[in-house]
Amino acid sequence: MLALAPEAPRILAQSRDVLAVSGTNGKTTTTAYLTAALATLGPVDTNDDGANTAAGITTSLAAGTAPRVVIETDERWLPWLIEATKPSIVTLLNLSRDQLHRHHEVAHLAHAWSDALCSVPHVVASASDPAVVMAALAARKQTWVAVGSRWTQDGHVCPRCGGECVHEGADWGCDVCGLCKPTPDWWLEGDELVSKQFRLPLRLALPGEVNRANAAMAVATAALAGVEPSQALAAVRDIAAVAGRYAIAEHQGRRARVVLAKNPAGWLESLAIVAGTTEPLILAFNSEGVDGRDPSWLYDVPFDHLGGRRVVVTGRRATDMLVRLEMAGLTDIASTTDVLTALEMLPEGDVTVIANYTAFQEARRVLAR
Ligand SMILES: [Zn+2]
Repeated sequence: MLALAPEAPRILAQSRDVLAVSGTNGKTTTTAYLTAALATLGPVDTNDDGANTAAGITTSLAAGTAPRVVIETDERWLPWLIEATKPSIVTLLNLSRDQLHRHHEVAHLAHAWSDALCSVPHVVASASDPAVVMAALAARKQTWVAVGSRWTQDGHVCPRCGGECVHEGADWGCDVCGLCKPTPDWWLEGDELVSKQFRLPLRLALPGEVNRANAAMAVATAALAGVEPSQALAAVRDIAAVAGRYAIAEHQGRRARVVLAKNPAGWLESLAIVAGTTEPLILAFNSEGVDGRDPSWLYDVPFDHLGGRRVVVTGRRATDMLVRLEMAGLTDIASTTDVLTALEMLPEGDVTVIANYTAFQEARRVLAR
């Protein structure tokens, strides 16, 4: 379609209200949350199959006629999407290193976003991520959401001037050009989502801080689009799995929750979900094209706090993972060929499987049998 009619996305988006969601991590979950929240107003189309570049987005636009469309957009394709579909609101989650062989540097992506966002009427953006804030300031209007961030390793160099960006607790700022954390309109306070007008309990079926952040971004965006925040929250609260992420599969007495983590920031958040438990872990690791062929970023992920826990590694780059864990001082780590065998090596009960992209798809397939 794009070859025959390059104008197709523009025509298909005409007279529909397009909302875009982009960022390195959390796009699919936030898109699902936002779609559920907006569905309280009427029919919504979305690309919930994860196809988030030009071809997939165009297919999704062609497949429906709903007046509202929520589009998960690959971070490198966001400028194209803005140009093609003129979204009314763009939700910007975070930017961190990902797929080292494919993506440009984080600062380069942030500048590409900044150039593209000039024409966007309103962004809902994380106030916690310097690269996102720098880019979001280019839009005509901003709603800031302070969602916090465990991962700050891509935020130490100011994305605007190259100076040092100092992080102190949840605050950050550059002493050279003055770029700093904006005053949030929405923020997380323990288990509550708070704004000047609202204080809402944020109890979700999905686990972890990371999903509270995704829900906060979705509710803030839905509120801007006219959904009562408490209704938005009621619509997202019970979503228990998104495109297989966080789904629980049973196998011979083991209950395996499968978590997708594609890059250092994602691994950090996924490991945080099991922190404070002694639950056994399966780490499944590949390095096919979509995983990023260069797995050296494993050394950016802190694994040392996994000591004292049963861990089994699997996947085609299991040996890289084993070496990484050994460097973190972990010993007695078992290794095996596939997720089912890994599960059978662990005692009955709850197990968390953390897997990167193709390993996650494989784990879903074998566990669904
Ligand atoms: Zn600066």
